[in-house]
Amino acid sequence: MLPFALPDAPALATLRAVAAQRILILDGAMGTMIQTLGLSEEDFTDGGHVHGPGCRHHPTDRPQKGNNDLLSLTRPEAIEDIHFAFAMAGADILETNTFSSTTIAQADYGLESAVHDLNVAGAQVARRAADRATAEDGRPRFVAGAVGPTNRTASISPDVNDPGYRAVSFDDLRTAYGQQIDGLIEGGSDLILIETIFDTLNAKAAIFAAFESFARAGRRLPIMISGTITDASGRTLSGQTPTAFWHSVAHARPFSVGLNCALGAAAMRPHIAELSGVAPTLICAYPNAGLPNAFGQYDETAEQTAEQVAGFAQEGLVNIVGGCCGTTPDHIRAIAEAVAPFAPRTVPA
Ligand SMILES: [Zn+2]
Repeated sequence: MLPFALPDAPALATLRAVAAQRILILDGAMGTMIQTLGLSEEDFTDGGHVHGPGCRHHPTDRPQKGNNDLLSLTRPEAIEDIHFAFAMAGADILETNTFSSTTIAQADYGLESAVHDLNVAGAQVARRAADRATAEDGRPRFVAGAVGPTNRTASISPDVNDPGYRAVSFDDLRTAYGQQIDGLIEGGSDLILIETIFDTLNAKAAIFAAFESFARAGRRLPIMISGTITDASGRTLSGQTPTAFWHSVAHARPFSVGLNCALGAAAMRPHIAELSGVAPTLICAYPNAGLPNAFGQYDETAEQTAEQVAGFAQEGLVNIVGGCCGTTPDHIRAIAEAVAPFAPRTVPA
């Protein structure tokens, strides 16, 4: 069922009003900020949420270090501080720390049972930071419930010897995304951000699940859709050009469509230009801070990333900009300042 008859979530009118006036700013990378905290296994499992087999909350005997989404439950103040730093750096939209909060992604950690709590807590933590920032400077902030692609693909076989094999089905993904999105809405998200899409079939399952969650919640949240171009051919991992990608997701009538991650801003530019030419909705771009170096770290300075993103704005290609892997509050502050002189892209009719 398509939920277009449902009432819109209250944030939509404010979002549209701000987007008509200026380029909206999305926040930066949660993962690289968490890395700088130097957390231990105990930080990930403390707080009575994860205590090994027999724990009444979410028993697991697997190590949890690196399960960043879990910190919304076990170190909520640390996550709230990161969100708040991005908000005060100029971000209008804060992404929840829930990129891997599906049963499919949490299976790696044996924490499928925690998925509902992870999403509710992830949204609540971002909401608190957003409301604190608004109390401080009077500007509205919005919480985007972040839905990652999972670590499995529905349209390509991971086994070169068995091209018909699939590691996950549409219905598996639809169920997992539905559980996630229900929690994100319950925790107070204003939007749903389906991001880092490498496989359009996965994204379609997330869109379908979002519609079902909206029907359960009785209101429709704006959807942001963000694909990722993974190689020099300018296609997603499942082989689509940006134009094909747009036509595959246009039925969702998304609040925005765009690209994130993978390539830095310089390599992303022609693909954002192509999307901008075909999609009659807002365009969103949040590149990494360049390409990772040999150690998997990102070297682009705030000024370098901001200069390139400002180029997108100067050319009239974008309505929402921010940063992905390797971007800090300094990057977001520099991006916000660099795009401020430019008008948002005019959305084609
Ligand atoms: Zn990224």
